[in-house]
Amino acid sequence: MNTNTFQLRHIGPNKSEREKMLQTINADSLEQLISETVPENIRLKEDLDLAPAMSEYEYLSHIKELSEKNKVFKSYIGLGYHEAIVPSVIQRNILENPGWYTAYTPYQAEIAQGRLEALLNFQTMVCDLTGMELANASLLDESTAAAEAMALLFDVRERAQKKAGANKFFVSEEILPQTLSVLLTRSTPIGIELVVGNHREFDFSEEFFGAILQYPGKHGHVFDYSDFVAKANENNIKVAVAADILSLVKLKAPGEFGADVVVGTTQRFGIPLGYGGPHAGYFATKEKYKRSIPGRIIGVTKDTDGNRALRMALQTREQHIKREKATSNICTAQVLLAVMAGMYAVYHGKEGIQFIADSVHNKTKLVADCLHKSGFKILNENYFDTLLVEIDTFKLRPIAESEKVNFNYINDKYISISLNEATTQQDLMKLFMIFGQLKKQPDTAAAESEGEFHQILTQESFTTNFDVIPNNIKRNTSFLDNEIFNTYQSETDMMRYIKKLERKDLALNHSMISLGSCTMKLNAASEMLPLSNPQWGNIHPFAPINQAEGYHEVLKKLEHQLNIITGFAGTSLQPNSGAQGEFAGLMTIRAYHLSRSEEHRNICIIPASAHGTNPASAVMAGMKVVVTKTDAHGNIDVDDLRAKAEEHSENLAALMVTYPSTHGVFESAITEITQIIHDHGGQVYMDGANMNAQVGLTNPATIGADVCHLNLHKTFAIPHGGGGPGVGPICVAPQLVPFLPSNPVIPVGTKQAITAISAAPYGSALACLISYGYITMLGFKGLTNSTKNAILNANYIKERLQGHYDTLYTGENGRAAHEMIIDCRDFKQKGIEVVDIAKRLMDYGFHAPTVSFPVAGTMMIEPTESESLAELDRFCDAMIFIRKEIEEVSKEDANNPLKNAPHTQAMLTADEWNLPYSRKQAAFPLDYIADNKFWPTVRRVDDAYGDRNLICSCNPIEDYM
Ligand SMILES: *Cc1c(COP(=O)(O)O)cnc(C)c1O
Repeated sequence: MNTNTFQLRHIGPNKSEREKMLQTINADSLEQLISETVPENIRLKEDLDLAPAMSEYEYLSHIKELSEKNKVFKSYIGLGYHEAIVPSVIQRNILENPGWYTAYTPYQAEIAQGRLEALLNFQTMVCDLTGMELANASLLDESTAAAEAMALLFDVRERAQKKAGANKFFVSEEILPQTLSVLLTRSTPIGIELVVGNHREFDFSEEFFGAILQYPGKHGHVFDYSDFVAKANENNIKVAVAADILSLVKLKAPGEFGADVVVGTTQRFGIPLGYGGPHAGYFATKEKYKRSIPGRIIGVTKDTDGNRALRMALQTREQHIKREKATSNICTAQVLLAVMAGMYAVYHGKEGIQFIADSVHNKTKLVADCLHKSGFKILNENYFDTLLVEIDTFKLRPIAESEKVNFNYINDKYISISLNEATTQQDLMKLFMIFGQLKKQPDTAAAESEGEFHQILTQESFTTNFDVIPNNIKRNTSFLDNEIFNTYQSETDMMRYIKKLERKDLALNHSMISLGSCTMKLNAASEMLPLSNPQWGNIHPFAPINQAEGYHEVLKKLEHQLNIITGFAGTSLQPNSGAQGEFAGLMTIRAYHLSRSEEHRNICIIPASAHGTNPASAVMAGMKVVVTKTDAHGNIDVDDLRAKAEEHSENLAALMVTYPSTHGVFESAITEITQIIHDHGGQVYMDGANMNAQVGLTNPATIGADVCHLNLHKTFAIPHGGGGPGVGPICVAPQLVPFLPSNPVIPVGTKQAITAISAAPYGSALACLISYGYITMLGFKGLTNSTKNAILNANYIKERLQGHYDTLYTGENGRAAHEMIIDCRDFKQKGIEVVDIAKRLMDYGFHAPTVSFPVAGTMMIEPTESESLAELDRFCDAMIFIRKEIEEVSKEDANNPLKNAPHTQAMLTADEWNLPYSRKQAAFPLDYIADNKFWPTVRRVDDAYGDRNLICSCNPIEDYM
């Protein structure tokens, strides 16, 4: 046997385990199981034309070679992206640590207290720096956060404004270009009209409901916005401010001058540039808008024993759960990056962050001084880290590029220069040398300034005696005063703090996380390793393309691989999550109809069982949702669908369909369904979250779809990171290719392209390496075997749970696809809810499967191909034993192991034990548990209490106890 294949490492069951499992499920062969599962008429007839699989070793040298095609310049481009220093203790213990990066979104709070605390730190940091009351635990990037702010302000318009149709949104011309583009994309379909202009000339007229300002402006100028905001308030116009997070250390917080929402990115808090992402966007607002906030908010509550505990606040109000009433579709966010940015603040502490901001600012002043002395004109007098300089760019550029330096070239006369934490003394010398060369006096400027370097960089007493931040815009309030930001400044302490939090969380490095629809498969080390390489990490997204040849080769190859896998003609990697892919895909459909003068087509048919993001995305794309029924077998009711398609034939825009369905079934009517939609002039959007059941066996093009998104963080091995990063590319049929999204700085689309979906041209390019590695190391055979084994694993669990739990839906031959729903609704007779089972699983060392989606009172189990027979058996044993426990409880007496779950170590070791069952049954009900016990650190959290007493930052304990 060739033990050097990656396939062997990625797929859990080995050959003999597979035989055993096939026997259990009564199938002669894997091929037989697949033919009983996937309808014959949609099976692929040929092998996918992918390159043969590379071994892990081959791949690592291949990807290293490609990395060397990237040229790492010093980029002073700014525009929302700055070189940052990832503290090594964070890189090694978080970014490179599966204990952090393989965790799931913290829905099961009791086994997620670690990352919840890290995210609370992040929120606290954002609230402190912005001066706002409430912050969420990340959005996808600054530009989409700005669009979310616009959507929120539109949603919270006063009744009179709604009545009068106030639909204009003022955008300062100082806004970053990529943000303007995303605002355009998001505003048009929902009827918001953007008005771009100079904020000093704005007339505050009543057609406006809101405005957005950039702080500092895109070329570095710092404006005093207080008059603007005051006037806007008088006129009932709400103001969002897009703010550079580091500048807020030195500048008056937007909360202090009355902003309603503050957004931005936390990239420069220790996150690699990564050619555009992933980075955590932030979103902060006032308490009064808490019900309209997009994304997830972490809040403080208490557990059963009254101890402090954290959980996702207002959880049931996550926007997309409101379906077509939602104002945002965000689901996956950027949790791992938010954790890292929060940790950056924890590690540097208040003083460190102050130092970094001061030194960036002082370096900027020094450069300004030097430029000034050399006779260059600087056009912004008030600035934090960015200078707008009049200069002969034709002369400058070749000199700068020969010295491996990038500026932001605005036109032939102007550049902007943004300094950052990573600008060293040597870098400054090089800058002075470049400017000196331009003036033909290479050394004078440098020599004059040299004496000041040491002082600046060590921050002893920098005395360039001019002030470029006037008093009215200076920050004079404190920040990061909480103990958490002032405790872990030694590496030893920091390492232990990170470990302490990690131990509270159950991740894939402990046990299977069988999350239906979320595909928590192996995130292999070889896929992850390249992310640590600065040849990948340190490329600015707006760097000249010829400096990113390694990236372009990988991204092109990945696009090609995804085209082949989906059967489509074109791919855009820009969307940063599945939900964002949905929006992007629907926008290409919209553009397609527009291009054919069929702009009236605005009806989107969506099955009742769809994920909440589907209707939320449709509404964002300006479509009206028509819900179609599912029949008793969980399939789309084809007659109902046909009737709705006929009824809306004139205006039919699209169908959104998940395949295999969210019920875990390959509907055999799928080609009939897509045909009906096409017959009525609609396009078919396939939600690709379940692609793990298709790869190599069938594909979206074959079932008749026109566009799909893929969740690279589900099917293609990007880790969940505790709730992000994600990558949600869209793959499209030929007629939609011209409309794939572009970017205003680096054009990536055709002339007909829609405007930007997210900030960076290629979204989270760095994370794309993971999926590229996954596909490249598996090849066609490995990918197809993964799919087959995922289906085998699911059917094995189904078989083992038979007689203990009812499976809700199956295909025509009684087979499940790659996941299945088990019905827990009957246990209500015993007083047991599905969440009780979820919490009880923690005592057995498992994270619960998906709870109550897509059917309330059920669980959706998806084991993935990566789990071995032994792990599947442990899980099934746990489920079966829990089922026995349910048998033994009675509705009258809630004092039982399920209702009391999870059980903590503190409970078990307390002097007193008054429960009607033993300590052993509480915490070690099965033998395997003792070998690898996972202890939940809090008892069941009280959601209702937390929502009634909303606390979303880490204020001192006394404040709320
Ligand atoms: C996960 C999922 C989504 C949303 O994807 P995100 O990446 O979380 O935005 C949409 N539909 C289905 C069926 C999903 O499982």
